[in-house]
Amino acid sequence: MASYDYDLFTIGAGSGGVRASRFAANYGARVGVAEERHLGGTCVNIGCVPKKLMVYASHFSEDFEDAAGYGWQVGERRFDWSKLIENKNAEINRLNGIYENLLNGAGVTIHDGRATVVDPHTVELDGQKITAANILVATGGLPSRPDEPGKELGIVSDDVFFLEKQPETILIVGGGYIAVEFAGIFAGLGSKVTQIYRGPLFLRGFDQDVRETLAGELPKKDIDLRFNTDIAKLEKDGKGGIAATFKDGKTESFDAVLYATGRHPNIAGLGLEKAGVALNQSGAVKVDEHFRSSVPSIFAIGDVTDRLQLTPVALAEGMAVAKTLFNGEPTTVDYADIPTAVFSQPPIGTVGLTEEEARAKHDSVDIYRSTFTPMKHTMTGRSEKTMMKLVVERASQKVLGAHMVGIDAGEILQGIGIAIKAGATKRDFDATIGIHPTAAEEFVTLRTPLPDPERKAAE
Ligand code: FAD
Ligand code: NDP
Repeated sequence: MASYDYDLFTIGAGSGGVRASRFAANYGARVGVAEERHLGGTCVNIGCVPKKLMVYASHFSEDFEDAAGYGWQVGERRFDWSKLIENKNAEINRLNGIYENLLNGAGVTIHDGRATVVDPHTVELDGQKITAANILVATGGLPSRPDEPGKELGIVSDDVFFLEKQPETILIVGGGYIAVEFAGIFAGLGSKVTQIYRGPLFLRGFDQDVRETLAGELPKKDIDLRFNTDIAKLEKDGKGGIAATFKDGKTESFDAVLYATGRHPNIAGLGLEKAGVALNQSGAVKVDEHFRSSVPSIFAIGDVTDRLQLTPVALAEGMAVAKTLFNGEPTTVDYADIPTAVFSQPPIGTVGLTEEEARAKHDSVDIYRSTFTPMKHTMTGRSEKTMMKLVVERASQKVLGAHMVGIDAGEILQGIGIAIKAGATKRDFDATIGIHPTAAEEFVTLRTPLPDPERKAAE
C-alpha cells in the first residue's frame, strides 16, 4: 500500500474543515489542515459570530427607547463604531485561539498558507508537496458581485466587519439573509439605510407570510425598502461617496454600497479541474451522499458544494466524512427539515415546508396562523408585530412546517425543529402544555385553521 504523509489533508479550516479534521484525528487518523486566512473560517471571522455580535450591538438603540415605557429614564446615548469593532476583534481573536487549541489538542497538524491540489493524493503548500490518502476540500464560498459598471466601488460582507468608519448612509443591494440582517444592523446603529431588491418581494424561498411580515416591519425601523429596484451603475460622486444610478435612471449618493447578492464556491486556482474533480454549473464540487467527488480520494463539504450554506450543515457534513473514512461508519446527512434563522430585526425562524411548498406536495393542508403584538411592546408603544404559523397536512395531521417572525424566533424554532424532525402531529402540539407567558406558547395553542382557499374556490 502506498504510504502518504497524512491519512487526511483538509484544505480550509472553517466550520466543516475543522470539524472533519478534529474528529478524524480523534478516530486515530494522521491529519493535516491548511488555512490561508483565519482559523474558524467564514462563520467565526466574517460571518455568523461577528454578525450576531453586531445584531446585539444594534438592538440597544431600540431597547433604550423601549425602556421609557417601563419607567426608565435613559441618559445621553452615543455609539462608538471603533469600540464595537475593537471589542469584536478581541472576541474573534479569542475564538481563533480556541480553534487552534482544539486542532492541536486533537493532534491535527496546522499548516498556515494556501494549499492547492496537484493530483488525487498530493497538495502543494508554500512550494512543498504533501501527500495524503484522502484530500478534503472545505474551502467555503466568497461573496458575489453583480456584473455592473463600478461594482468594485461597492463593498461586500467580508469588508463590513472591518470598516474604519460607520457609513452615515448605506445602500444595501439584495434581498436574502445577509441583506436583511445588515439592513437591521446598520439601521439600529444609526445609519440611514436604503435596501433594494430586484424582484417584487424579497426573501425568495421563504414562506409568503414570513416575507410579507418582514416587508411590513423593516420600514418601521426607518429602513427605506424598495422592491423592483436594481442598480445600473456605480460611480464616485466626487464628494467621497458613491453615486448609484438605478435602472429607472435616477441617481442617489451613499457613503457606502453593500452588495449582499449571494456567494459562490471558492475554487478558483485550487487545481481541482486539473486533478479531474467534476464541478457543477455554479462551479461547486459535485459529491455523492458520502461527500466523495468524482475522484475517489478527494472529498468536499460545506459551502464549496453549494447546497445549504449554513454552519451546522457544514459541521454535520464534516462529521459524516470523519465517521465514514475513519470510524467504519458510512454516514450521510439528512437535509430534510433543517431549521434556520435570519437575524433580521425582528428575526425569522423557520423549519420544514412553506405553505406554498406544502400545497404543491400534498392534497390538502391546514394553515394555523397568529399575528399579535408581543407582550414586551404592550408597554413600549412600539408597533412591531409577531407572526407565527403552522403548516399541517390535513389527512395525517403531521406538522410539515413552522414559521415565525418575531422576538427570539431563532431560539423558539430550534425546539419546534426537534418536534417536526420527530414527526410530531398537530395533536402532539395541542397536547403540549404551554409555557406562560411566552410567545412560544402560541405554537401549542393555535386551534382554528384559516379558511381553506381550496374549499372556498370550490364553493
Ligand atoms: P468556511 O467557513 O468559509 O471555511 C473555508 C476556509 O477555507 C476559510 O477559512 C478559507 O480561508 C479557507 N481556504 C479557502 N481556500 C483555501 C486554500 N486554498 N488553502 C487554505 N485555506 C483555504 N450560517 C449560519 O448557520 N448561521 C449564520 O448566522 C450565518 N451567518 C452568516 C453571515 C455572513 C455574513 C456570512 C457570509 C455567512 C453566514 N453563514 C451563517 C454561513 C456560514 O458562515 C457558512 O455556511 C459556513 O462558514 C461554511 O463553512 P465551510 O466550512 O464550508 O467554509
Ligand atoms: P442569498 O442567496 O440568501 O441572497 C442573495 C440575494 O441577492 C437574493 O435576494 C438575490 O435575489 C439577490 N441577487 C443575486 N444576484 C443578484 C444580482 N445580480 N443583482 C441583484 N440582486 C441579486 O445570499 P446572501 O448573500 O444573503 O447569503 C449567502 C448565504 O449565506 C445564504 O444563502 C445563507 O445560506 C448563508 N447565510 C446564512 C445566515 C443565517 O443562517 N442567518 C446569515 C447570512 C448568510 P433573487 O432572490 O432574486 O435571486
